[in-house]
Amino acid sequence: MPLIIPQPLYDQLRAHGEETYPHECCGIMLGKSDAENLTVHQLLRAGNTRTDSAHNRYNIAPQELIAAQREGRRQGLDIVGFYHSHPDHPAQWSPTDFAEAHWFGCAYVITAVEKGKAAITNSFLLTGTGEEDKAFTVQLIEVTES
Ligand SMILES: [Zn+2]
Repeated sequence: MPLIIPQPLYDQLRAHGEETYPHECCGIMLGKSDAENLTVHQLLRAGNTRTDSAHNRYNIAPQELIAAQREGRRQGLDIVGFYHSHPDHPAQWSPTDFAEAHWFGCAYVITAVEKGKAAITNSFLLTGTGEEDKAFTVQLIEVTES
């Protein structure tokens, strides 16, 4: 199941990681999902609430998640995924990313930011039904014109 994202949003998501460099950025993706695609319609920036080591961990506050869900409902959209950046680290999920991922069927997008410049962006779909069988599956990112 590919992640469909319009170019302007894709650019925004990557630029966010450049802005917060050398710290991580994170955000929520609102959109629609069906049997075939996850489509991103809107990005919501989230404050990185972790102050202990913001360069290698990220966290979205529960209040921000609730606000995002409310905003989505207002527009007929759902939370379809999350994004964050890896400053000077590869665009691969970390054990912490995996441990903290609980939204099954959602996309987890990671952008590597090398020396302040957005490099590779990867997406991982969280599959499974519970902690026992959950897994990250590499997901194709399809960038559309608008
Ligand atoms: Zn990470």
